[in-house]
Amino acid sequence: MAVISLNISNYGKCLCPVCPVQLRSKCIAAKNEGWRQARLKVGEMLKQYHEHPEAYEMEMSELEKSEVGQRHAFTEPKPADMQELYCSEAVGKSNCSDLDEGKMCQCPDCVVWQQNKLGSTYFCLSGAA
Ligand code: SF4
Ligand code: SF4
Repeated sequence: MAVISLNISNYGKCLCPVCPVQLRSKCIAAKNEGWRQARLKVGEMLKQYHEHPEAYEMEMSELEKSEVGQRHAFTEPKPADMQELYCSEAVGKSNCSDLDEGKMCQCPDCVVWQQNKLGSTYFCLSGAA
């Protein structure tokens, strides 16, 4: 089974932020500020993608120490603040207990899922791929 990297490339492709399984969760909503700040920083760095394409594929921990990461005061998002990439070992199962498992997981439409042939779904409920 593929190990999913916690990098900006995968972060940007993940469909979890628009998934109905977590959309109405009060627990997820309560984490929104930390999550929003991380997204803003990633957005700022993506604007410089053409200058720093190497940053796109770096693990978030490496990115934090890199020249481009430091210039943007990027800090690796805390796994508990993240609302995406549950399929990665670094994030894994959500610690929210009010996710709606009756709704449809969006993973099969995700490029990360397709490229890595992940097969299973609902990583937010069952843990990393
Ligand atoms: S496979 Fe699922 S959890 Fe993993 S990046 Fe895609 S949407 Fe997110
Ligand atoms: S892992 Fe699947 S069910 Fe969970 S939030 Fe991501 S897309 Fe939705």
